[in-house]
Amino acid sequence: MSEYGLIGKKLGHSYSADYFSRKFAEYEMPDTYNLFPIPSISVLPALIESHRELKGLNVTIPYKEDVLKYCDILSEDVENIGAANVLKIIRQYGDDGAVYSIKAYNTDWHGFAESLLTLGAEMGIIDKDSHLMKDALIFGKHFPRALVLGTGGAAKAVVYSLRFMKVAVTLVSRTPEKVKGFTDCPVIGYKEITKEVMDQNLLIVNTTPCGMYPDVDEAPDIPYQYFSSKHVAYDLIYNPEETKFMRLAKEHGATVKNGLDMLYNQAELAWSIWDL
Ligand code: NAP
Repeated sequence: MSEYGLIGKKLGHSYSADYFSRKFAEYEMPDTYNLFPIPSISVLPALIESHRELKGLNVTIPYKEDVLKYCDILSEDVENIGAANVLKIIRQYGDDGAVYSIKAYNTDWHGFAESLLTLGAEMGIIDKDSHLMKDALIFGKHFPRALVLGTGGAAKAVVYSLRFMKVAVTLVSRTPEKVKGFTDCPVIGYKEITKEVMDQNLLIVNTTPCGMYPDVDEAPDIPYQYFSSKHVAYDLIYNPEETKFMRLAKEHGATVKNGLDMLYNQAELAWSIWDL
């Protein structure tokens, strides 16, 4: 029996735990998926030492970037993005006892890109049998410019995806002057989002946790009155299913999408990384 799980600071209800537990049941596997709320990423080595059956971990807020210093091998995507959300724990048993190494992956960027293609197909701008490598640029042609709200680990994966689709990104931060780690990306403050900026950027992606359960009455501070039927408002949050950001954008005609497809897409990829 192998163990898998999720590390993060505060872990409430976990959709990943539901997802993997359901898969284990479906395939009649004895493996388990457990939640590991940890107060600091520095306890990761002790956690891996004490859970000898642990083969893989998902990583969530706020450790996606800090976890890298505990990893031995970084996938190319992680090198480029600077954040990881999936760890594979590779154990070897030799004369000195058990040793392990950690390989870090980022499946968020792929999960996000795939979900944009699904949305593109729903909107009728991309074929239903779309393929990321083939159709990424078609989505980019329809949405050549995007605003990405937030500048954390999730934003890094989203920016990487959008660049792959040849979408020009402008980041939005509460403190633009402090933002680091995004090269060649203009960063503006929320007050700088004018009607002109909204008209130029028809794809708006919320990568902040603003509006996530239990803070469901919150929404990023943007001028919702400038949304139109040409806009797509994409929220990475999936709990609640419709966030205040989505509701306000929809009231002005925008097409909206939550982060559930992205979550499931990235979990499917984690499943294959762990060789399940
Ligand atoms: P994070 O690092 O904690 O926050 C992201 C950024 O949001 C911060 O760097 C900050 O940027 C901004 N921010 C934080 N709190 C805010 C607030 N109260 N109001 C406005 N802006 C705020 O989190 P993350 O790991 O990037 O994840 C962000 C969200 O994406 C979470 O809700 C997470 O659940 C979701 N997510 C979903 C999926 C999925 O599969 N659907 C995958 C990954 C993440 P500034 O300081 O520059 O403003």
